Amino acid sequence: MRNEVSSDEKENLLTRREFLSRTLQSAAGLYAFSLLHGVANAQTDDKSTTLTAAKSEISSRFVADARWWEPMGKNNIVRCKLCPHQCSVPDGQRGLCGVRQNMDGKYKTLVYSKPVSMHVDPIEKKPLFHFLPTSTAFSLATAGCNFGCKFCQNWEISQAKPEEIPSEYLPPEKIVEMSKKESTPILAYTYSEPVIFYEYMYDIAKAGKKENLRSVMISNGFINKEPMRELCKVLSAVKIDLKAFTDKYYKEVCSGERDPVLNTLKTLKEIGIWYEIVVLIIPTLNDGEQENREMCRWIVNNLGPDVPVHYSQFFPTYKMMNLPRTPVQTIERCHDIAKAEGIHFVYLGNVWNHKYENTFCPKCDKLLIRRQGYYTKIEALKDGKCAGCGTTIPGVWS
Ligand code: SF4
Ligand SMILES: [Zn+2]
Repeated sequence: MRNEVSSDEKENLLTRREFLSRTLQSAAGLYAFSLLHGVANAQTDDKSTTLTAAKSEISSRFVADARWWEPMGKNNIVRCKLCPHQCSVPDGQRGLCGVRQNMDGKYKTLVYSKPVSMHVDPIEKKPLFHFLPTSTAFSLATAGCNFGCKFCQNWEISQAKPEEIPSEYLPPEKIVEMSKKESTPILAYTYSEPVIFYEYMYDIAKAGKKENLRSVMISNGFINKEPMRELCKVLSAVKIDLKAFTDKYYKEVCSGERDPVLNTLKTLKEIGIWYEIVVLIIPTLNDGEQENREMCRWIVNNLGPDVPVHYSQFFPTYKMMNLPRTPVQTIERCHDIAKAEGIHFVYLGNVWNHKYENTFCPKCDKLLIRRQGYYTKIEALKDGKCAGCGTTIPGVWS
């Protein structure tokens, strides 16, 4: 009889109290990170904030005017127009994402200058494979999300309320300063869902742009067209998770909808910003050949063959511990279908040391960029062209 509990099993046994205690510890880690990187003069959450957090309130320094909303005419109700949920929010209440609140008929964000996770990552981790390869990105997230994906790897922050995770006060200029100190040329909004911290992201990206830092958003693409267009003025690239190709999956697994995400992809194409797509393949839920084929056809017909598509392997997590890890053969089959449907750049993700992590020339098949995990080497790409046959390779290379 086995009497030891594996670390994976322990993970599953975490209670909500343990989860909160762990996130508090990670907030302490965040603080240490900031001190280490020379921003000790940034204001940090003090005892009083911790106390108010315990009462489910939030420090006023993290509250800022929200964008993209309108009053609804009576009883101080407002409608949020940032994402397709279009929440109508009574006075004193929050929208579905939990980070935007109606305060006396004015809509506010509760996470401005309130990051709960920050790391320096290779850009390949986002993943963006055709955007400044080998560069690093100063990456951050606040609490909250407008989806509720049952497989979320970052549920500890994406499904938390802002007051559940204490954090430092780090306004946009501080983030830019920290990124410059790290010599990271890219700022990445990631981990949770950046759409819901729109105002903070926008202002960091704007401040970063003045310092020649480029901004990328790693998103579910569930955002209305107008805010997306406005945001693209300060972004340089976007990665969109196309969770599946059925609305049923979006509704049942993610608490979202498919078509607004497809519309976002079309908007990005219209605007001409660089973007890539990631599809997480989950056994029995979205691994059907027909679904994948239809998705690839939609991509080629609406976006063209040059948008990179990354198929990613699922690992059991959060509310989806009952399903197995995706077999490598399954995502290899997805890769083959995508290539057969005409997509030029198809990658496999979460699978280390696979030849389909590399970039090949779609015309002469030359190896252009070699990748092994997060090791990346430019092999035969010169001024954005294949060194073998001269074909222009789409992307942002300098
Ligand atoms: S951003 Fe949040 S509050 Fe606004 S519509 Fe979406 S879920 Fe609702
Ligand atoms: Zn070539």
